[in-house]
Amino acid sequence: MTFSGTGRLVLVATPIGNLGDLSARAVDALRSAALICCEDTRRTGKLLQHAGVRGVPMAITNDHTEHVRIAEVLELLAGGRDVALVSDAGTPGISDPGEHLARAVIEAGYLVSAVPGPAALVMALVVSGFDTTRFVFEGFLPRSGSDRTRRLADVAGERRTIVLYEAPHRVARTIDDLSHHCGGGRRVALARELTKLHEEIWRGTLSEAAAHLAEREPRGEYVVVVDGAPPPPESDDHAITAALRAEMARGATRKAAVATVTADLGVQKRRVFDIATSLPRPEAPR
Ligand code: SAM
Repeated sequence: MTFSGTGRLVLVATPIGNLGDLSARAVDALRSAALICCEDTRRTGKLLQHAGVRGVPMAITNDHTEHVRIAEVLELLAGGRDVALVSDAGTPGISDPGEHLARAVIEAGYLVSAVPGPAALVMALVVSGFDTTRFVFEGFLPRSGSDRTRRLADVAGERRTIVLYEAPHRVARTIDDLSHHCGGGRRVALARELTKLHEEIWRGTLSEAAAHLAEREPRGEYVVVVDGAPPPPESDDHAITAALRAEMARGATRKAAVATVTADLGVQKRRVFDIATSLPRPEAPR
């Protein structure tokens, strides 16, 4: 249920480095809000000054305070006032606060809208040169431990283009780890300082990226875009036959051998079945 005639929470995207990307709709939404929730009042204050927005109160809404801000926001919405939410840069809720507040507002039955705009992940993806039809956003990888290893393994096996955020002082290590898991030959694009004076899109393999980063101290903001994993090599009939024979020699029934070989080689079951039926039946165990 959504209450009509009440205020809205508006997630307002802001520039990721170039103030020229602040949209007219973003300025309108900020000007007409009763409250602007933001991560850092100094930073957002400068943006408001640039946009000529005056007199709108700001409230710090970061990872620690997002939950405590909910009651205050709901009260304003109930009174018919709009609330804007911005992050330090880009789209709120994308590796930034916003998700919890948006969910709470939806659950309370109020409207959530957005003024779309810059998001580093989208810009990096479209300039990477990789497949944009299907992609995954991994945000920041866990910094260490088995969670990191698991996520790196997920990235290595992912067939779609993968977009990652990373801090400059960790980007070299992440590239090394990606190279270890995906193989040094996998292609990568490093999108640095997007929309800023020193914007740079570097493209090459993961091994080359490791060498590139070793030559200079990484500075500025980075998005890492990794090409999807190549499809598994097509198995020829000979390989399927050999795998079926090996399974059956181990005592597997024809049906079990077909299932195992289909899964192991990642080929169509029908093809494996057709080859299996042309082979002599395995002898029944005595
Ligand atoms: N909400 C933001 C967005 O919509 O893109 C992301 C915020 S997240 C805390 C910050 C990360 O985004 C940085 O570590 C970097 O990976 C990426 N990023 C943000 N601005 C960038 C830029 N101008 N160039 C490259 N990467 C950027």
